[in-house]
Amino acid sequence: MKPLSYVRAGTAREAIDAFVAAGDGARYIAGGTNLYDLMKLGIERPAHLIDIADLEGADRIDTDGDRLFFGGAALMANVAEDPVVSRDYLVLAESLSKAASQQLRNMATVGGNLLQRTRCPYFRNGVNGTYPCNKREPGSGCAALGGLDRSQAVLGASEACNAVSPGDWPVALMAMDATIELQGRDGTRVIPISELYRPPSQTPHLEFTIGREEIVTGIAVPKTAAGRNSVYLKVRDRESYAFALVSAAVALEMDGDRVGQAHVALGGVATVPWRARAAEAFLRGRTLDREGALAAATAAFADARAGRHNAFKIELGARTLADALITAGSKSQ
Ligand SMILES: Cc1cc2nc3c(=O)[nH]c(=O)nc-3n(C[C@H](O)[C@H](O)[C@H](O)COP(=O)(O)OP(=O)(O)OC[C@H]3O[C@@H](n4cnc5c(N)ncnc54)[C@H](O)[C@@H]3O)c2cc1C
Repeated sequence: MKPLSYVRAGTAREAIDAFVAAGDGARYIAGGTNLYDLMKLGIERPAHLIDIADLEGADRIDTDGDRLFFGGAALMANVAEDPVVSRDYLVLAESLSKAASQQLRNMATVGGNLLQRTRCPYFRNGVNGTYPCNKREPGSGCAALGGLDRSQAVLGASEACNAVSPGDWPVALMAMDATIELQGRDGTRVIPISELYRPPSQTPHLEFTIGREEIVTGIAVPKTAAGRNSVYLKVRDRESYAFALVSAAVALEMDGDRVGQAHVALGGVATVPWRARAAEAFLRGRTLDREGALAAATAAFADARAGRHNAFKIELGARTLADALITAGSKSQ
């Protein structure tokens, strides 16, 4: 039996102090839907849990100011069902409502969703030495490269790791230029969501850029009319309770019948939530027809590299993105 201590913090400061005092074995826990799972699999072995689900003000949802603001411990269900989010920022609402199940969304937090770990089967199932995994055990190798790689990434992989970034919500936030508010030992700071995730490179075990003791205290999204012309399209093996095979987050700022600025990100296909800049550049100033949408979507996958069993993701991803672009465009008419 492994001893495990548990403390529930009331403020972010209290949580950080408890974390620092507890040392190496400390982990924050919010909804627990990812962390407990990984503890049961033997992948995470914390000695001290610091519960941050009830930090003062951390479940705040504020849509009244000049930006949308979601506290790190706001529940996925509550953000998805917020009247302003579900009316004016469908891409955000759908990325949450199409994730997991209602029971999970009632427990899981939007901060925890950003930091959940990959669902790569070799990462999750090889703890007892069955499969090497550079993310689980740095330097051990990667069984997914050249293995059963149907679910693996076609964008952003390295020779050390091709595990897919699992979350839906980070993909929508990436398209919407969200910023992440962090509180740590030395105070608070704000980073763009694009800086939260590290590409795997040679160090796939280092997934996030934040400090060990830093807490995601909030997520801010600039208010934009593009939210009304937005969609999150997710293709998966089952219609619910399944991670994305491919997904596309699209929000369009229109200039008459032409695209002014497209905001495009992809999920299920890449090692990090993937901003599709090439597609955005292609779309600027164009009218949106099926042919243009497919050309933009093809540009988004120009650098994609397939393994043995996941080439289908390139075509499926492009078609999904093209559909999402047409759907978002039709909302502006
Ligand atoms: C069966 C199943 C299906 C699922 N399907 C989907 C899906 O389709 N799409 C999808 O996106 N997700 C899916 N999920 C994942 C689920 O959405 C995440 O487990 C959940 O969002 C994590 O949030 P949590 O609050 O439970 O995090 P926890 O499990 O409490 O924490 C996760 C990690 O984040 C850290 N952490 C949590 N909050 C903070 C914070 N505020 N600051 C700093 N660190 C923090 C913890 O230390 C831990 O490392 C699924 C999960 C399950 C079990």
